[in-house]
This record gives sequence, C-alpha cells and structure tokens, in this order.
Amino acid sequence: MNERINVVSGDIIPLIPTRDLVVFPGMTVHFDVGREMSIKSMLNARDGSGEVFLCAQKDINTEHPEKKDMYKIGTVAIVRQVVKTPTGVYRCLVDGVRKARLTELYDKGDSFEAKIRLLPNYSKESLYATEIQAVSREIRLAFEEYAKILPRMPQELYSAIMGAKNAEQLFESIAFNMPFIFEDKQALLEADSAGEKLVLLMTVLNKEIDVLTLEKEIHEQVQNRIEENQREYYIREQIKVLQNELNGGRGVMPGEGDPSEIIIQYLEKIDSMDASEETKEKLTKDAERLGRMAMGSQEAAVLQNYLDEVLALPWNVVTEDTSDITKAQSILDKDHYGMKRVKERIIENLAVRALTPDIRGQIICLVGPPGVGKTSVARSVARALDRSFVRVSLGGVRDESDIRGHRKTYVGAMPGRIINGMKQAGSSNPVMLLDEIDKMSSDFRGDPSAAMLEVLDSEQNNAFVDHFIEVPYDLSRVLFITTANTVDTVPAPLLDRMEMIELSSYTREEKFNIAKKHLIKKQVKKYGLSSKMFRINDSGIYKLIDGYTREAGVRTLERNIGSLCRKAAREIIEKGAAKVSFTAKNIPDFLGHEKYLPDLVTKEDLVGCVNGLAYTTVGGVLMPLEVLVLEGKGKIELTGSLGDVMKESARIAVSFCRSIADQYGIDKDFYEKKDIHIHAPEGAVPKDGPSAGVTMITAIVSALSGYKVRCGYDGRDNPHRQSAAHRRSERKDYGCIQGRHKDCYNPRSQQRRP
Ligand code: ADP
Repeated sequence: MNERINVVSGDIIPLIPTRDLVVFPGMTVHFDVGREMSIKSMLNARDGSGEVFLCAQKDINTEHPEKKDMYKIGTVAIVRQVVKTPTGVYRCLVDGVRKARLTELYDKGDSFEAKIRLLPNYSKESLYATEIQAVSREIRLAFEEYAKILPRMPQELYSAIMGAKNAEQLFESIAFNMPFIFEDKQALLEADSAGEKLVLLMTVLNKEIDVLTLEKEIHEQVQNRIEENQREYYIREQIKVLQNELNGGRGVMPGEGDPSEIIIQYLEKIDSMDASEETKEKLTKDAERLGRMAMGSQEAAVLQNYLDEVLALPWNVVTEDTSDITKAQSILDKDHYGMKRVKERIIENLAVRALTPDIRGQIICLVGPPGVGKTSVARSVARALDRSFVRVSLGGVRDESDIRGHRKTYVGAMPGRIINGMKQAGSSNPVMLLDEIDKMSSDFRGDPSAAMLEVLDSEQNNAFVDHFIEVPYDLSRVLFITTANTVDTVPAPLLDRMEMIELSSYTREEKFNIAKKHLIKKQVKKYGLSSKMFRINDSGIYKLIDGYTREAGVRTLERNIGSLCRKAAREIIEKGAAKVSFTAKNIPDFLGHEKYLPDLVTKEDLVGCVNGLAYTTVGGVLMPLEVLVLEGKGKIELTGSLGDVMKESARIAVSFCRSIADQYGIDKDFYEKKDIHIHAPEGAVPKDGPSAGVTMITAIVSALSGYKVRCGYDGRDNPHRQSAAHRRSERKDYGCIQGRHKDCYNPRSQQRRP
C-alpha cells in the first residue's frame, strides 16, 4: 500500500484516541467510534482533508484523555468510509499510512486535534542482513508452534504468513493479524527498524506461546476435574438407583445420603473436637474405614451409629460457672427452705472454685428419707452455678454395663448411663445427679459399684472409658451429687469418696414453713392459678400435714396441695368463683375424710401401759406397750408380731424385774404364780430391735407393782398420728420411753394397788 498523504510534519489534523486498538502503517482496519468527541474528529477528517491521526490511549478507561494519557507514537490514516449505525455508533474504515509522533494535543471542546511530526515507517536498518534472516527463521519456527496452540487459526492466513517474502512482510502479516495484547502491538509499532521490530516480535511470540501453553494446561485440568466430577456424579446416581432397588423402591433411606459427603462431615467434626490426638486419630481411622465400606451394610451401620454417638457427646461445650456467690446463695435460698448445711457446702464449693478453678473431687452425697428435697436441691445447685443439670437414676442398676455400656459389636449395644447423661446434658461440665446410689446391687454380671468408683474417683475420671464409646472421656469437670436413702447399703469404697450431708426428716413446723413458702406457690403456678384465687389458711396447712400425710419429707403434702389446686380450678371454671379458700374445716369436703388418725397413745397415766417410741422410715412414731399380769403358773406370753430380739428382750426384762422386785414391793415369786402377757398393739406390724428393753421393764414393773406410768401427755393433741395401715407397711424398731411413776392404776384390771 503506497498511499500518499498530504499532511506534513507540524500540521494539525483531527485526532482519534483509540482504545485497545493499534493501527499500523499499511494496515486497513474497521473500527467503531462511539465517543462524541471522537465522532466529531472523525467527521471533521472525513469532511476535511480525509486524513486522521490514530493514536492509542494508555488506559482504556480514560474517558477524556489529555496528552499525558496518550502514547507518543501513532499512525496517520486515510478515512475511507464512515457509516452511522442504528445504535448511534460510527463504523469507520481507514487505511493506516504513516507513522507519526504526537507533539501536541488540542482539545477543541467538541473534538480533538493533534500536531504531529511524521516518522519513517521503517527507519534505517540496525541489523545485518544475516541477522535479520536468522531472526526471520526463528520467527517462522516460533510462529509454527504458536499457530498450533492458537485456537482457530485460519489456514490461508497461516499460509500467507509462512510464505512472506521479506522481513517487513513477515512482520506485518504477523503483527497486523495476530491477537496480541495492545501494549505489545504499540511496542511493535514504536520499534524503529525492521530488524528491531522482528526481534521484539520474537519476544512477543515466545511470551504468547508460554501464556497459551499455560492456558491450555489449566483448561485441560479444569476439563479433567469437570469430567471427574461428572463421572462421580454419574456413579453416585447409579448407587442411588441401586439402593433404591434394594429398598424395594422406597427411595434412599435417611442417612444414606452422599457417602463421601457424610465422611467429610465426620472428619470435619472430628477435627474440631476438643479431645486428645489419640482419640482424634482413632476416630479419623474409623471414619475413613466407614468410607471404604459398602454403605448400607450391617457393619457400616454399626460403625456409623458408633461415630454418631461419639460425636454427639459435648466435647467442646463448657459452660461458664457463675462467680457471683451472693447470687448463687439467693437462688438456693429462694428454692429451698432450711437445708443450711447443703447450701453452705455448695457456697463453700463455689468460693473454693473461684480461687482454684481446676480443683477436682467435689462429690456430695445427700442422704435422707424420700421427699426431703434431695433431687430438687441438686437441681437448684445447677441453677445457682449456671450449669446444665442431668439426673441419672441408679435405682435397680445391677449390671456393670448399665454404667459403662456394652461393646459396640453386640447387637443393640449402647453407651452406659453416665455417657448418656453427658449427651443429655449437652455440656462437659454439668451437675450430674446420681440418684439412689444405695439402690444399686451387684450380681453375676459384674459389680456396677466398681464402675461407679471409677466415675467418682477424681484421679481416674478424667479418662473414663465407656465400653461402647471406646475413647476416654473427661468427667473431671462434672459436679457429681449423689443421693441415697440410707448409707447402709452403699459399698464402703464408694462412701469413702463422697462427702455425706444428711437431710433428716422434717418436723411438723418445718413442713408447715416449706408448704407456706414454697409448695403452695409452686403448685398454684403449676395449675395456672394466682395467689388471689387460691387461699389456704394456717390451720388448713396443719390439717393437711396431720390428717392427710404421714411422711418424712413433703412429697405427699405437695401432692395434696396439688389436689386442692385442681379442685379450686374446677370451682373457678365451673361455678365462676373468684377465689377458693381452704380451711381446716372445709378441706375434708374436697379431699375426703382424714386418712390418718391420732396415734393410739394413752393420754393418762396407766398401770402396765407404756408409750414407746418407734423408729420408722417416715421418722418416729409413738406406740404403746401393754402388759397384763394374771394368776397362773409363771408363763410369759408375747404377742404383736415381735421379732426374736424383742422376745429375748422381754425375757431379760422379766428376769431383771425379779432382781429388783424388792424395791417395788413386788411379790418375790411372781414368776411362779403369775402369767405375764406382753403385747405390742397393731399385731400385724412386725416389730423388732433391742431398744425396747427399758420400755418393757417399765411396763412389767408397773403391772406387777401397780405403780402408774407417766404417759407424757401434756394436754395438747399430738400432731403425729399414724394409721394402722401405714404402720403395718413398716417394720418398727422399738425405742424406750418414760421412767417409772408411782401411784398408778391398771385400767384393765381396774385394781387399785396399795
Ligand atoms: P427426694 O429427691 O429427696 O426424694 P424431692 O427432691 O423429689 O425429694 O422433693 C420432693 C418435693 O419437695 C420437691 O418438689 C421439692 O421441691 C420439695 N421440697 C423438699 N424439701 C424442700 C425444702 N426444704 N424447701 C422447698 N421445697 C422442698
């Protein structure tokens, strides 16, 4: 293309700053002009001399370039065609003619103009001809390689390039047509001689080859990955279909999701566990083993179940203990009346923990009869400490595996109660109540108390091993509280590890206070009433305690209050009453007749009749002992379901009476002439124990001598009464009572003695 142009160096001609486009001399190009200023410049060129200066701007994002934003070298071109497209953009066809330098840029407001200095398209050659030949050959080789990896290289173009006659042609055919980046093209334009241009072209080609090779590799990798994923997806779909077939068309069973995903989830969970490295290693191995198993097989199900159980344990969850002792104290006081020692012990515990957080071995055993608040105080300890609470019942545990779990290989195997408790608690430092530790028994299947020892021993329980879980679990942060009704049946080594706190049975006054301050409020709230709707006066509460309960604790009392609440609720709903008041008088209307009558104790001083004190699980009760002396032959009759020890006591008592007969004016040979009948009323209730000796002696001496025995009645009704039925249910252990009293008479014989 040997076009001529009219401009000369120093002329000012319309300028178009090109973006992402470098026009070489000798090159015919199509391009679109969109910017207002450029359009005007182009139209000016078309309508003027028909020549335009095309110069690339450095940054394609610059909207309104100044001279500093432009490359210094551009090309003067002849405008061949300018067509307005429907979108408003102008499509132009130009022929690049002459390289030129931008010496000045003029912003005319609506268009650009440039002052230019013309440059030779190829300056004087700086290389020898042989050098140029060598570079040309290299370029051909490089281009061959480049063409192979460049996607969609037109065959004609390839042939034209390979058949270039000289260095300039070779340069132009490659530089004009190949999709190099525009910075490279600009550099190629700026290079002076043909040789220089070729050397630079060589570099650009090599760089392009590297980039394209890398791109190809990456592309292949991505492609492989996609294919692999597709393959996996395809196989997985097939597995699903097969599983579906196996399940008789019921679809994929729960837990049979994508196997590899399940394993990944397991591994992630194991990784985040707060456990020893060995534990994590073992579990990781198990998870990987699961990955290799056929999902849905029996073995895989066992292993999966195992992993689920282990990972469900609170490995990482630790709740923070409260350090506010006053708050803890107020929570304890709010929940329970009395119980001074338990509360003190817990507060001491808190104080110690505040000083030495890592202290271990805090095991408390609450011993006392049922219903005295052992369970509920443990619950409020958890509340006071801000810990979670879990109750593990040990009643009826007779097998070690109840505590420690079964090996996972057994069918239906599961973790023991302790580990289950931890799972329920949801944190690794709960308050754990081991209820009724005295009710554990051992048999041929192993001794649960041995396992319990490990749980409670602070030296060992930081690595408690459950047979099912297999990996050690740290129980040392758990606050154990145990309960027992009696310590007699708790094995000594266990007792040794616990601090006993005894909760004795409540007195009548204590029950009254507990009812008034706690139970009533609790029940009223439970049944959706308010204190305005439900009223009970003090005499009513006493009535409940005396007439409807006979217990050491307050459980039945609470139940009775609950019944009254239900009755009140019914009255309110049925009859529209605003409130219901209960008193000693009207309680029988709601709860029926009193269940317990006053104790069968004598209220006057009698001959041969002594009030004895018996110990039962509900506390103590008064029981009379009666002795009748009859004419006879020295027989001793014992009735009232007396045990062997008590029978012996009776004989000893008779012998003792003989030894002191003188002092009480008793006939010396009464043991030959009189029959003595000793009876403990309520004959159906078995009674035993050695402690009734004094009671018997007193009764016998009184019966023989005619002295009355002081009954101890002070004129008030004894509140503690007990029904025959209740007494029958308990075995009693007699205790002794009153001393002798002169001036008695026997109501049965109605004989006054001198
Ligand atoms: P235990 O575990 O000793 O058999 P519970 O803890 O089950 O007894 O107590 C029975 C009920 O009596 C619970 O509702 C409890 O709140 C209540 N209770 C027992 N003692 C008290 C007390 N001192 N103050 C308040 N409520 C009590």
